[in-house]
Amino acid sequence: MAKTNEAAERYKTINRTSNAANIAYLILHLLYLVLFIIAKLDIMIYVTSAVIAVYLLFFLLIKYKKYYLYALMVGNEFFAFIILSSLMLGFSTGFHLFLIAFCVVSFFTTYFSKKKEVRGSYVWVFLSLLIYISLFILSELINPYYAIEKWLEMTLFIIHLIIAFAIISSFLAIFIKYASSLENRIMVDSRTDELTQIANRYGLSDYFEQEKNKNGKVLAMFDIDDFKGINDTYGHIAGDYVLKRIAEIVKATIEDAFICRYGGEEFIIVLDDNKTNSFYERLEAFRKSVSKETIEFEDMKINLTVTIGAVKYVDGMSLQKWTDLADEKLYEGKNSGKNKTVI
Ligand code: GH3
Ligand code: MG
Ligand code: MG
Repeated sequence: MAKTNEAAERYKTINRTSNAANIAYLILHLLYLVLFIIAKLDIMIYVTSAVIAVYLLFFLLIKYKKYYLYALMVGNEFFAFIILSSLMLGFSTGFHLFLIAFCVVSFFTTYFSKKKEVRGSYVWVFLSLLIYISLFILSELINPYYAIEKWLEMTLFIIHLIIAFAIISSFLAIFIKYASSLENRIMVDSRTDELTQIANRYGLSDYFEQEKNKNGKVLAMFDIDDFKGINDTYGHIAGDYVLKRIAEIVKATIEDAFICRYGGEEFIIVLDDNKTNSFYERLEAFRKSVSKETIEFEDMKINLTVTIGAVKYVDGMSLQKWTDLADEKLYEGKNSGKNKTVI
């Protein structure tokens, strides 16, 4: 399920980016067309018109999810267009700036591709550099086909500079946004217990580190009594259901507490010790509601009890020490008849 979601999310990002990019390329070429018409550069008008027709067809590639082919075609078109335009209009029009910007796009595309093969991006970087150097040398050796006016040269250069900056920053921004949302999800997932959807022991460590004021807090560790017997009698699936139900009972009976599944059938509750309703009373209320409840699963009726060991925080205590002390109390409870809270 999670995997399908991730793939869908990935495709959504690729699709959105490709469509946006194609629209942007189309607008850019329309702008070229206008400029070339004003400057009466006939060959460039024909070429740009043909390129616009090709970009309209590219929408079909995106529609049919041929993203890799799309990226490849756009790449080739750009190389061809950059080379031609530089030779026709001159190096100082800045078409070469695209080559730098598209190196970033190439790595971006690689990240979202299935194989994540960086080698392909380096081929692109190498080709771009080669073309860049060749165009530079050629521009020193031969004159461009058209001797364009200064206004057009400057306009094209500024347009290209702006686009290059925009491409680099926007693609990096998209990448960072995607990566950080992924990081966030992994972070949450790795600290959540899949069965009960409460925190796991990594979540507890985070909680312990982040909680500034632990004075006055109590750590209660509880363990289901004779849980092995429940699994043996009702089956493992019923046992799992019991664990889920127990997590719900804790949430319902002890408010404002941090709850975590510490191990198989061991849980930890960190709660405040407030004067009006002492932590002992709150834990006892929880213990009693467990013992009173009959958990129904399929046509089985399951009764169970828990034993709780609780310890107040002492300044400077480590999490390990705190849980060890609670565990000792829990052990005491188990050895003296179970179904009780030991403090
Ligand atoms: P005690 O009263 O001393 O705690 O006895 P117990 O039977 O609960 O303790 P024991 O440690 O012997 O058994 C714990 C059992 O919990 C054994 C294990 O199969 C079961 N268990 C641990 N994790 C899970 C789980 O995720 N699902 C299910 N169904 N059972 C689990
Ligand atoms: Mg146990
Ligand atoms: Mg047990």
